[in-house]
Amino acid sequence: MEGVTVTGAEEDAGGRLAVWARISRPAVCPWCGTVSGRVHEYVTTRPRDVRYGSRAVDLFLEKRRLVCGNGGCPRGTFTEWAPQVPPRCRITRRLLEHCGDEVAERGITPAGSARHNGVSWPSAHGAFAKKADTLLGEDPEPAAHLGIDEHRRGRARWRRDEQTGEYTLLADRWHTCCYDLSGDQGMLGQVEGRTADDAAYWLAGATQDWRDAVTVVAIDMCTIYQSAVQRMLPGAKIAVDLFHVVQLAVKTVAGVRRRAIRELYGRRGKAGDPEYGIKHLLEKNLEDLSGEQFGKIIGTLDATGPGQHVALAWIGKEKLRHTLNLRARVSGSVPCERQVRHRLFPSTTGAPRTRRSPS
Ligand SMILES: [Zn+2]
Repeated sequence: MEGVTVTGAEEDAGGRLAVWARISRPAVCPWCGTVSGRVHEYVTTRPRDVRYGSRAVDLFLEKRRLVCGNGGCPRGTFTEWAPQVPPRCRITRRLLEHCGDEVAERGITPAGSARHNGVSWPSAHGAFAKKADTLLGEDPEPAAHLGIDEHRRGRARWRRDEQTGEYTLLADRWHTCCYDLSGDQGMLGQVEGRTADDAAYWLAGATQDWRDAVTVVAIDMCTIYQSAVQRMLPGAKIAVDLFHVVQLAVKTVAGVRRRAIRELYGRRGKAGDPEYGIKHLLEKNLEDLSGEQFGKIIGTLDATGPGQHVALAWIGKEKLRHTLNLRARVSGSVPCERQVRHRLFPSTTGAPRTRRSPS
């Protein structure tokens, strides 16, 4: 460390290192700038320092308390210091930087870093926050395609009002995250909560120019984020992530299957029901099913009327997936409406556009 000289070191039986050191730079009065050599007293401090290899280090740093030689200076005495061990420090700067790097660069939790380095959680977290602040101060680059999605983080925390007995939410377990989908910036921001106001709040923090640059926003299939986008980014097109579309189709098949079981047996499904046995097979993609598994699905669902309803929902899900494979990323070209209709309704001439009269 600059301005610090090691005067001795000793290893105990357990491999722990004790290191003695002193400040080796001229002692300058912080008030008047006079260099002093008049020692008032010696003090030994114990700042926490980085490990030496894998071994923990006990640092004994001797500091001199000096009398300012300038008779007119009101300071009286002062303690010498070095950049890594500024006045009143209990942790060397390099150890704090190390803790900040562990959390920011290596994904170690503040608690894990604190434990390993022998510092308190607030110190490790503070070091990380200081490092993060330098990055978070910068505005994000424009993102033409923005993704907004919810993210579950930890547990909700509540506080109970002693008087009324009512609970107030202190920390929401759900957060809203914004992502740069077209560029390489990754996650742009995260706010607590998942209401339209929470999403709008983050968007409101961006500059008007930044908001104007967003052309497409991808969201899940709920109307909450939709209303936030319509409010804050009125010029942007709303797209739904494919994952959410397919997820909804899979959930629908499961819903129809549960209803069919209730119709057939008058109760919830349980192990032993043929329809319950194909529960996970129905969630799989058609192309991932073996011939035997496919036969099991058909054999089970074709046997009863309610089962045939499940089969229809399942075929619908697979047709939807087949149609989604027309997207340019898979097929190499942008599909036209006719191609989409053909995949959804291959046996007819097109989608039934109007409801025909029974005649
Ligand atoms: Zn002085």
